[in-house]
Amino acid sequence: MNKKKIALFIGLAALLVAFFVLDLGRFLSLDYLKSSQARFDALYQSQPWTVVGVYFLIYVLVTALSFPGAVILTLAGGAIFGLVWGTVIVSFASSVGATLAFLAARFLLRDSLEARFGARLAEFNRGVAAEGAFYLFTLRLVPLVPFFVINLMMGLTQMKVRTFYGVSQLGMLAGTAVYVNAGTQLAQLNSLQGILSPGLLGSFVLLGLFPLLARKVTDLIKRRQVYARWQHLKPKTFDRNLIVIGAGAGGLVSSYIAAAVKAKVTLIEAHKMGGDCLNYGCVPSKALIKSAKLAHQMQHGAQYGLSDTTPTFSFKAVMQRIQAVVAAIAPHDSVARYTGLGVEVLEGYAKIINPWTVEIALNGGGTQTLTTRAIVIATGARPFVPDLPGLEDVGYVTSDTLWDRFGELDAVPKRLVVLGGGPIGCELAQSFQRLGAQVTQVEMGPRIMAREDEEVSALAQAALVSDGVRVLTEHKALRCERVGDTKVLVVTHQGTERRIEFDELLCAVGRAARLTGYGLEDLGIETERTVPTNEYLQTLFPNIYAVGDVAGPYQLTHVAAHQAWYAAVNALFGDFKRFKADYSVIPWATFIDPEVARVGLSEQEAKDKKIPYEVTQYGMDDLDRAIADSEARGFVKVLTVPGKDKILGVTIVGTHAGDLLAEYVLAMKHGLGLNKILGTIHTYPTLAEANKYAAGEWKRAHQPKQLLAWVAKYHAWKRG
Ligand SMILES: Cc1cc2nc3c(=O)[nH]c(=O)nc-3n(C[C@H](O)[C@H](O)[C@H](O)COP(=O)(O)OP(=O)(O)OC[C@H]3O[C@@H](n4cnc5c(N)ncnc54)[C@H](O)[C@@H]3O)c2cc1C
Repeated sequence: MNKKKIALFIGLAALLVAFFVLDLGRFLSLDYLKSSQARFDALYQSQPWTVVGVYFLIYVLVTALSFPGAVILTLAGGAIFGLVWGTVIVSFASSVGATLAFLAARFLLRDSLEARFGARLAEFNRGVAAEGAFYLFTLRLVPLVPFFVINLMMGLTQMKVRTFYGVSQLGMLAGTAVYVNAGTQLAQLNSLQGILSPGLLGSFVLLGLFPLLARKVTDLIKRRQVYARWQHLKPKTFDRNLIVIGAGAGGLVSSYIAAAVKAKVTLIEAHKMGGDCLNYGCVPSKALIKSAKLAHQMQHGAQYGLSDTTPTFSFKAVMQRIQAVVAAIAPHDSVARYTGLGVEVLEGYAKIINPWTVEIALNGGGTQTLTTRAIVIATGARPFVPDLPGLEDVGYVTSDTLWDRFGELDAVPKRLVVLGGGPIGCELAQSFQRLGAQVTQVEMGPRIMAREDEEVSALAQAALVSDGVRVLTEHKALRCERVGDTKVLVVTHQGTERRIEFDELLCAVGRAARLTGYGLEDLGIETERTVPTNEYLQTLFPNIYAVGDVAGPYQLTHVAAHQAWYAAVNALFGDFKRFKADYSVIPWATFIDPEVARVGLSEQEAKDKKIPYEVTQYGMDDLDRAIADSEARGFVKVLTVPGKDKILGVTIVGTHAGDLLAEYVLAMKHGLGLNKILGTIHTYPTLAEANKYAAGEWKRAHQPKQLLAWVAKYHAWKRG
């Protein structure tokens, strides 16, 4: 806490103590008010502006300091100023006082609260930004919730001050008028309890609930409007509980969950079971990375006391091994397996005809139409191909076509251009370079792997460059040309054009959601970037859900699978309980060598979001096992709440970083801090010890220095 905060805190505490020690509350009692009414009236008659001013100030002070007594003051307002003026004066004084209390709570507590619960609060604050005013208004209308609690709680959110003030003034008006009115009848009032009769209180509650009810009705009307065009097509009975379109990670898991809870579910896949991950993405790329790493290690055998050897190999065999790996994993995602799990699998192209009907053009011929209560769209994404003049003419591969096309080659392409500096571009650029291609990687931005911290990008770039990849950042692709048999990519860098000759060009500049051709346009579902969903993963139509790459915001296999649980459960049991998709702890890894893995905040993100943090870094060059393996490069970087061991984010660069990260993912998910990691036995000598040593670095930086000084004195005393 800084000095200003401490001063304010002490000042407020002193006022609070004075209030009770001096028993100032006796001036804020009904008896005192009644006994003094004549005196106040006389004063008001003789010096009206002074009385209004002093009253206003006292009211603001009491509410700003959250002292008890606002009700009595409101009654006094009615007793002294009458209904109209009393309501006006109290309305302004209470709103100003409430806003001051709101600001004080914000100044004193919000930072430390955000530092502690930053990630969770971020989501809450998004809710406040969207609907905070609405809920504040409701709370203000219902005088059952103490107003001072509302002031303080709202101060801890990101709500704008003027929103808080405006909504408070409006929301408190009705309640203010009731109490001011009671004040005008002060003589007949014997206790505060009588002011709000059960009837009146009930009316207030109804008034408070009105906006909520209105919201429900509006939602219902909107829902009806969305379905209005289709209502006449709604079947009376349904063939299925759930139809899932697309058998990638998202679709497979959605259908599996539905079958596990005994729903009747059909999974439709137009192309290959397992989707992009199995057939074109994670699996083949990781198989390629393994072969490339082995080739690299052979070339650098001397590092291990062996001889450097140039591996002799058939590129075709490398590509065949990749297909063999895919084939070995394919049974996990196969029709047979899912049928065995209770899922009906149809191989064909699905089209949503109306919100409850899906038509399937079966691969074997013919069509089948099925009605369903709910639909999960899990149609994934495809590589994005930029509109580059000449690109079609020279030809290119993407992650979709690469595996087949390169599988036909006898040798690795001599000169390979990789467009794109994201994770996929980096993994493939390094692998093909290690297998003998001369790779030129072209990235428009200032650095590769731009989502990570700058030092991570720098390390990744250094690793690729040391393998021989020509990494060209701040190079924008302009066009492709064919000069005789030679293919050329023309790029521009700081205003100068540069020509890069190549044999093959791999396009890895991002992936675009598959949005068209299967009915979304006709339904009126937005098809611009991804399928928009709410936090329950519902699309515009509450019975149609979307998961995975087609929905975003992450394009990762494990996120698609994670979303699938929410979509399937919400689709099948949403009438009883719905669950919001939880993105609070999402890990990912890029499998270059050394691997880069992250969970939670990066340092740059913490800075951008103004989240206070401390950094602890442990270098892999210190780790026994990494040294023994000649893999002593990279680091474990942990962001924590200042002064606390609570983990905000972790980035690991190093061999097997993707695996090492799991311990931190578990810790973050279950709220375990660095002390817990430090207190856990890690097997010696393993790479996982790096996590413990990072925790140890943190502990060293937070030693209780004063206490240790005393302990040193104790030992000295014991020695005599
Ligand atoms: C080279 C590469 C490497 C990657 N590496 C990793 C990695 O290491 N880790 C990671 O987490 N992620 C990785 N990914 C990303 C990962 O592959 C995707 O995030 C994941 O596949 C998304 O799953 P999904 O279910 O959303 O979609 P998909 O896997 O794309 O599945 C969608 C399926 O829907 C089918 N379909 C579409 N429309 C219809 C229709 N109308 N009717 C019937 N079927 C239809 C498609 O044929 C497809 O099979 C990588 C991607 C690539 C390209």
